[in-house]
Amino acid sequence: MTTEAQAQLTPQQAWDLMQQGNERFMAQQADHPRQDGERRGLGEHGQNPHAVVLACSDSRVPVEIVFDQGLGDVFVIRTAGEITDLSVLASLEFAVDSLGVPLVVVLGHEKCGAVAAAETALDKGVMPSGFQRVLVEKVTPSLLSAKAEGLSGIENFERNHVKEIANHIVDRSPEIRERLNDGRCAVVGLRYRLSDGKAEPLVGYGLDIGAETVQR
Ligand SMILES: [Zn+2]
Repeated sequence: MTTEAQAQLTPQQAWDLMQQGNERFMAQQADHPRQDGERRGLGEHGQNPHAVVLACSDSRVPVEIVFDQGLGDVFVIRTAGEITDLSVLASLEFAVDSLGVPLVVVLGHEKCGAVAAAETALDKGVMPSGFQRVLVEKVTPSLLSAKAEGLSGIENFERNHVKEIANHIVDRSPEIRERLNDGRCAVVGLRYRLSDGKAEPLVGYGLDIGAETVQR
């Protein structure tokens, strides 16, 4: 996408591109777009991605594949359990502010090991070793807020965790909030289902994605 085309792209249009790609992937009709040598060469002139995606590092959730995107299309950040820290927030702001990306996607998934580890820690008091404790520390608040809302079951914990991360990004980043408020950017939270390949919509900030919509 050219710089001019990206500057004209609304958050809704960026969402349409992602959703259509996911539908192609689900239907096993992926186009594998913009992955040829010509496209590779165009990358030398810069990048104008239409979405920034914070996803879990899980090997079963490769972002470009499940949204059927090509070179230069998506700016991707991945951590186990899609947890955030200052480096992640810096990368998100770089995408939105310096690259002008109109859509932030938080992507969790079915059978997430990080969410399962936090549940085990909470239920059985068993903590993982070393720095893996950080995963539990960062996911546990999402489980606690889910339980406070009366939610149960690992699937609902995974969904609530995505919503908490999306909310956290909007809360923590003044850059993203400012662009959200004037309509230049939207933030959406999705949960990828391993079973059928769908990225199920959970929450949209500044965008109606057929799920819970939050206007700020
Ligand atoms: Zn995961």
